[in-house]
Amino acid sequence: MIMAKNNTCGICNRKGKRACPALEGMICPACCGASRGSKLECPPECEHFPFGTEAYDLWLRIDGTWFPKAVEYVVKHVGEPRFREIIEKVGTSTRPKRDDEIEAGILNAVHYGLSVETDDEGRTLGERWEAEGWTGLNNDERLMTLHRRHTRPTIIEVQEILSERASECTDLLDPARGKFLVFDRATAQRSVRFSRYLLWLTDYPHFSRTAGSGMEIPSHLYEEYFEELLFDDANEDAPKAFQVVKRDLAERFAEYCDLQVDFAHDYRERALRSMDLKSCRASYELLVPRATIEAIINNKPDFEVNEGRELEPADPPGSVYFEWLRRGEAKQFEDSMPAAFQHDNPQDGVGILGALRLHDDGFLVETLGEKKFEFAKALVTRYFGSHVKLTGEESTDLAEQLLDRDGTESEDAPSASTPDGPPHPELPHDDMQELMKQVLRNHYQKFMDEPVPMIDNLTPRQAAADPEMRPRLIELMKLHIHGVEERARDENLAFDLDWVVKELGLTELQ
Ligand SMILES: [Zn+2]
Repeated sequence: MIMAKNNTCGICNRKGKRACPALEGMICPACCGASRGSKLECPPECEHFPFGTEAYDLWLRIDGTWFPKAVEYVVKHVGEPRFREIIEKVGTSTRPKRDDEIEAGILNAVHYGLSVETDDEGRTLGERWEAEGWTGLNNDERLMTLHRRHTRPTIIEVQEILSERASECTDLLDPARGKFLVFDRATAQRSVRFSRYLLWLTDYPHFSRTAGSGMEIPSHLYEEYFEELLFDDANEDAPKAFQVVKRDLAERFAEYCDLQVDFAHDYRERALRSMDLKSCRASYELLVPRATIEAIINNKPDFEVNEGRELEPADPPGSVYFEWLRRGEAKQFEDSMPAAFQHDNPQDGVGILGALRLHDDGFLVETLGEKKFEFAKALVTRYFGSHVKLTGEESTDLAEQLLDRDGTESEDAPSASTPDGPPHPELPHDDMQELMKQVLRNHYQKFMDEPVPMIDNLTPRQAAADPEMRPRLIELMKLHIHGVEERARDENLAFDLDWVVKELGLTELQ
């Protein structure tokens, strides 16, 4: 008897098929679907409760049926022209062009429609939908809308990846909230610790979900970007409250996405301009037979025949390329370089000064960077003296070329080819890596002694000596470590911040 009773649905008395922890008995699927989370107080661990922690795929199924209904509802009430305006306002770009940008805009626009846009009576469409009795929505979709209509953009920071679909995050615009669970496969799979995203977020009682689209904010841009969110032109003296920032993000989300793209572009431009990226060439005429010059070259440890470099069509017949290594007298060039780029130990490898192309009546010296160029020309004078005569010099700013290319690419033009003129040698990979490392190293050398807003405008060095500020400095350094390690991973760059951590004496991070 007891068994039979336990097999019937506790609501409709038909045959129950699932155990219901809320009823402490059986429930049929129809009653479960119609009652869960509303008439029944479902515990988060129930696998049949889509807004609990154990029903990830069920939530996705409901999302799939909810979304078209939500789009239809919002478009019907605001009208198509207004909906298009909203997409441009709250999508991931103010000028959405690609399909994925437009799609992302639709997701965000639905949330804006339900959560922010109000009707003539001052109600959000989410409130209006409820007042109309949730027309067209089933129990699960109603619950979903109840939470979705409080969706807002914010900036989250990943603290820990918990699984392939879950991560533990904090809300950087609501620090008091502490850590919370975020369900989203894409976020969990593409993040590393301290990854940050500008995105629309919906909070459910037991987890949050990314809703709609946004973008990752790279660590190296974050501080500057966050400052820009807190202080705008109208408000230069006092930072906006985080709630105000959230409201602004909701109204101007696309602009803030564009702003980040602009920041990334500016950063790249500054980095490129700060590098000595001039490709320099000097031509010399031989005043003695080639053999005399070859004898001198063969006598110097700095030159090695570069067998890997193929001759270009414009190279004179009989040309031979030499690598000009920072060895012998050419090693003195390193006296002008930061210690990290000097190679005291031969096992660490030898740096490159440039290249020399010898042919029957002359040679050409190539370097990347003006400093190396001046040094190489002085060495030519020392090595070859009156045997040669300088006949011409030219240089091309590769930074300008790269920046020009950025400009044309953003207009969707095909990639710019090299402007008229002789073909330029490819930027040697080693040189590029060395330059990137030099830029980063210079940046972090200065960073230690420059005021940082996140630590009350103390310098990291000052903050390290201040016990009260130290925890915030640790946080700041975590972010930098994140950014640098991510970049090192992506660009295969042998660079880390261990030396900064050590120099600042941050034993907590060692
Ligand atoms: Zn039932």
